[in-house]
Amino acid sequence: MASSVPPRSSYLKKENAGTARREMGLKVTPRRNVLSAINNGEANGGTSSAPADGGGAEAAPVVEFSGREDVERLLAEKMKGKSKNDYKGRVEQMSDYIKKLRACTRWYMELEDGYLAEQEKLRGTLDAENSRHTELETQLSNAIEELKAANLDLTRRCESLEETLNREKSEKLIAVESYEKEKQERESAESSRDVLTVDLERVTHDAKRFSEQLKMVQDTNKRLQEYNTSLQQYNSNLQADASKSGETISKLQKEKSAMMESMATLRECNNSMSSQLESSRASQQEAIRVKEELRKEVECLRAELKQVRDDRDHSIAQLNSLNIELANCKEQIGRSSKECESMSTKVSSLEETCNTQQKQIQTFQKQLAAATQKLKLADMTAIEAMTGYEEQKEKIKYLEERLAHAESQIVEGDELRKKLHNTILELKGNIRVFCRVRPLLRFDGDSNGPEGASISFPTSVESTGRAIDLMNQGQKLSFSYDKVFDHNASQEDVFVEISQLVQSALDGYKVCIFAYGQTGSGKTYTMMGRPGIDQKGIIPRSLEQIFKTSQSLESQGWEYSMQVSMLEIYNETIRDLLAPGRPNSFDMTPSKQYTIKHDSHGNTTVSDLTIIDVFSIADVTTLLDKASHSRSVGKTQMNEQSSRSHFVFTLKILGSNENTGQHVQGVLNLIDLAGSERLAKSGSTGDRLKETQSINKSLSALSDVIFAIAKGDDHVPFRNSKLTYLLQPCLGGDSKTLMFVNISPEASSVGETICSLRFASRVNACEIGIPRRQTQARSFDSRLSYG
Ligand code: ADP
Ligand code: MG
Repeated sequence: MASSVPPRSSYLKKENAGTARREMGLKVTPRRNVLSAINNGEANGGTSSAPADGGGAEAAPVVEFSGREDVERLLAEKMKGKSKNDYKGRVEQMSDYIKKLRACTRWYMELEDGYLAEQEKLRGTLDAENSRHTELETQLSNAIEELKAANLDLTRRCESLEETLNREKSEKLIAVESYEKEKQERESAESSRDVLTVDLERVTHDAKRFSEQLKMVQDTNKRLQEYNTSLQQYNSNLQADASKSGETISKLQKEKSAMMESMATLRECNNSMSSQLESSRASQQEAIRVKEELRKEVECLRAELKQVRDDRDHSIAQLNSLNIELANCKEQIGRSSKECESMSTKVSSLEETCNTQQKQIQTFQKQLAAATQKLKLADMTAIEAMTGYEEQKEKIKYLEERLAHAESQIVEGDELRKKLHNTILELKGNIRVFCRVRPLLRFDGDSNGPEGASISFPTSVESTGRAIDLMNQGQKLSFSYDKVFDHNASQEDVFVEISQLVQSALDGYKVCIFAYGQTGSGKTYTMMGRPGIDQKGIIPRSLEQIFKTSQSLESQGWEYSMQVSMLEIYNETIRDLLAPGRPNSFDMTPSKQYTIKHDSHGNTTVSDLTIIDVFSIADVTTLLDKASHSRSVGKTQMNEQSSRSHFVFTLKILGSNENTGQHVQGVLNLIDLAGSERLAKSGSTGDRLKETQSINKSLSALSDVIFAIAKGDDHVPFRNSKLTYLLQPCLGGDSKTLMFVNISPEASSVGETICSLRFASRVNACEIGIPRRQTQARSFDSRLSYG
């Protein structure tokens, strides 16, 4: 910094130095004040605060520094003129020099202060500049951000503009295309207009030609008129000739008459001159010859006359035809001129139409453009619709084919299902035994209330739902059947297990379901149930299933008809439960015979038995109500409502399929057997004794028949009871039999329960038809006897 300070010629030029420093861009420092203070101090004779050394009496020389040169000059200053021994002078010189040096130091310090102040100021400025700079930077960054956003916005706008541009371009292209098309159409219209102009020219040409023709025709007409007049002249000439000829004729006739007269006179002369005959003869001969000649001449003249007349006639005819021709020509001319007129009007109208058509063409062109646009759209939609339609058509075709295929598969599948279903049932065994234990009822047992027998249901894997254990006098009896329903089993649970058998009946098999057990064990409950949805028994549920399934099979072409009959067998006597007007009372002597007959096809008929066609579940419900009303009931100690007769519900199912030509005939027999209790327990006597014996006999017969069939005996004792005989075609063969053994759970019934379970075990061990799996009965007993 110091080096940049320019040298000064004098220490005293303070004003100039300040100006120079200002010129240098440096700030004027507080040095001046200090210097002036020094100066002042010098002037005031040492009253000033400076100099520090406080030289004393001697006034300090006024020293002013304005730059490095001054300092260097001071430093280069030498002691002059003083001898070595002139100490005083040297001291003075030295102190003077020291003062100068001090002033110089002060000047340096002042300069430094000035520099420091300047530095301070500059630092402040720098800080201010810095803050301004950061401010500017933030502003700049803000501006950059804004610019970026603006840029983004602009690019977006640019993109959208580009898009619009593209769109505009494509629209322009479309417009150009449509313009081209329009141009073409206009050209075609122009060409058609040219064609029309050519037509017009042709038409005008035609018109000209027609007018020429008209002229020609008029000329011909004139010529024809001239010809006509010449012909008329010729005609008049001819007529004159004719009149002349007529005159000649008349002259000749006159001559002739004169001749005649002269002949007469000659004759008179002859007469008078008979004398002169000889002489006159020659003259006479002469006269005759003349006369002959004359006659010839006359004839000639006549022929000539005729010729002339013919000529005249011909001329007249010619004239007439010419007249006609003339008229025709005139007519033609008239027509031609009319045509010509119409042609010219036509031409003008054509011109007009041409003009209007041109206008129309223009409008049409516009319309055409719009219409083509529309047509294009319509075409596109039509094409879309067509493709859619074609696709739909193909789809429909494909679906129809698939449907047909599926239908045939259904028929095949149905056949297969029937076979498989039957095989399954055969594998299960054609005689099956289900055991059902009813829950304890409040009024069961003695007056002390119900007391359960120790019945239990084993829960091992293979026995669950298939076995029942009974404790009797400390001894455990175990039985197992195809299915065991405990007291918790609902009607629904039971039906699920037998619904397959019901399906078999629909498939054309004969099915018998028996309910066996002592009175009060739940046979009727199992078969009929109690009113209410959940309480319905097997019979109503089976019918519901049959009607439902038969309806669903209608779609496959099956048609079913159903017939219901209901009877009871009491004391080996059949009673018709649907007989019209049957009294409600207990009738021991039925008037009808009810003979049972079987035909070779396994169809059973009972004479006089009422058979009713049913079409819906409602029909059957009313019949069931009627039947249950008519049932014979007798009072025993066991149960007031206990039935002492076998109730047989028979549903015949006839099915036919027109599509496949199949026919099926199934029978569903649902039998609520009479109570199986032994005589001692029911305590019957008299009629009741006979009744019980009859019941036991028929139940024995039933088991005998089952066992005989199972053993394959030659003789099966069907005829031993009415029941077995009635059901003969439905027992054995490929028919299906299910025996429900109902059990009462109370302790007092243990004896009967054991009997029922043993009976069931024996039946369960039987096989009818196809051999089946090993029976799992674990307890066998000797044959039961009843009564
Ligand atoms: P059965 O016909 O064998 O003489 P019932 O079917 O008349 O016996 O049944 C006797 C009583 O027990 C009836 O009141 C019946 O409602 C009732 N009952 C039978 N089985 C059941 C069962 N599983 N659940 C509820 N109550 C039953
Ligand atoms: Mg009953």
